[in-house]
Amino acid sequence: MTSTLNFNVFTAPEKPMVGERPRPLGPAMAWDPMTSTLIYGENDAVLVDPLTTVAEAEALAAWVKLHNRNLTTIYITHGHIDHFSGLGVLLKHFPQAQAIGSPSTVKMAQESLSILSWFSKFLPGQFPTDTPLPEVYKEETFTLEGHELRIIEQGHTDGVDSTSLYVPSLDLVVGGDVLYNQCHQYVGESTPESRANWIAALDRLAALNPKYAVAGHKKTGVPDVPESIEWTKQYLVDFGRLQAETSSDQELFDAMTELYPTWACHQAWLMFGFPMPAE
Ligand SMILES: [Zn+2]
Repeated sequence: MTSTLNFNVFTAPEKPMVGERPRPLGPAMAWDPMTSTLIYGENDAVLVDPLTTVAEAEALAAWVKLHNRNLTTIYITHGHIDHFSGLGVLLKHFPQAQAIGSPSTVKMAQESLSILSWFSKFLPGQFPTDTPLPEVYKEETFTLEGHELRIIEQGHTDGVDSTSLYVPSLDLVVGGDVLYNQCHQYVGESTPESRANWIAALDRLAALNPKYAVAGHKKTGVPDVPESIEWTKQYLVDFGRLQAETSSDQELFDAMTELYPTWACHQAWLMFGFPMPAE
């Protein structure tokens, strides 16, 4: 190996959404701030998660270009629409890049696309018209200038079939939605069982003893510290406990607000679930 790797994190701020809150609690509807991570060597680069809207993906593409690297790969951590709908914009700017995701990521991405016309009413006119899927990638690793990048299958965390990416030579984990950082977590669809799996997934990241940990969603400006792994776990534990101890949505919302007064995206839908379309 000749080159040394580096990384840089782009954070798209919280974005306001159109529409009624599913519950009359807290501020107006908004989508949580989210990250995209560029890992780069001397000549080449890998991008993790190409964001959501045209505006975000165009800004991200311009930011990637500032690094003057050849973008070889775009890795998608999971198939939630917000993590890959910007892909077509990125591929327009970097047509040589190969977009990849695990088989379960691509399957979920397909399902997400099937409700995009419904979902887009919350962010009207902001989604790209061209929303390609990543290619199915079945291996556990890929490389950047000879350095290994390892895909970690994490199962059900804030959604089903999530993955994280580990870069041993950088002591870096890019958590995907397994990891949050000072941003309210999407626990609205979670159960005691899925939270136990989520905690096991976080333990898997902690066991790698990373120096840097990038969360899929984070408060803008906060550093990508591995302590966020423990914070994400504690939030899950607190939510489970308070859900059992409180007797109304209002009480639970207020209790979480009191425990996490400085965390970003103080949204009731994160705690109680997104209003999905009827089947
Ligand atoms: Zn997400």
